[in-house]
Amino acid sequence: MFEKILYPTDFSDVAQKAIPFIEQLKSAGTSDVVILHVIDARSLDLLSYNPQDYRNVENHLLEIALDNISFLKQRFEKIGLNVKILVKNGNPSSQILKAEKEEKVSAIVLGSHGKSNLAEVIIGSVSERVVRHARTPVLVIKR
Ligand code: ATP
Ligand code: MN
Repeated sequence: MFEKILYPTDFSDVAQKAIPFIEQLKSAGTSDVVILHVIDARSLDLLSYNPQDYRNVENHLLEIALDNISFLKQRFEKIGLNVKILVKNGNPSSQILKAEKEEKVSAIVLGSHGKSNLAEVIIGSVSERVVRHARTPVLVIKR
């Protein structure tokens, strides 16, 4: 039922809270984890002033993402999970829903909130869109 988990992360504290839950899913039959980070097109726009800047910022964010992900990969592999890494550009929820289909995952595990983590917001916009449109079960880890 939970063979292949899609774990989308923005590396925020709330997204990190999902890690022990994913590890515990091993005893529920999880063998594979797909870790997905989306380099948000909006943050690239906000952080860059011209096309050259855009590429520098993109490369920098990619480097940071790969560092963070390789740490996560090791952690999951240590307990015997198979790990696949995906880094995409674009809109986070669209890329998450696309990966759900393409990777044929059994469930999605993500945080209720992410980087913004605003006190008055009940659920972040990425998790909201994923819960609304996903075909598979979604486990939302609360902050
Ligand atoms: P908002 O983005 O609407 O201002 P927020 O940042 O508090 O609110 P979300 O972005 O919805 O909350 O984050 C919820 C969860 O979605 C995160 O914990 C993470 O699991 C996933 N997520 C968010 N952004 C990304 C991303 N860029 N790449 C991969 N997963 C993401
Ligand atoms: Mn966010």
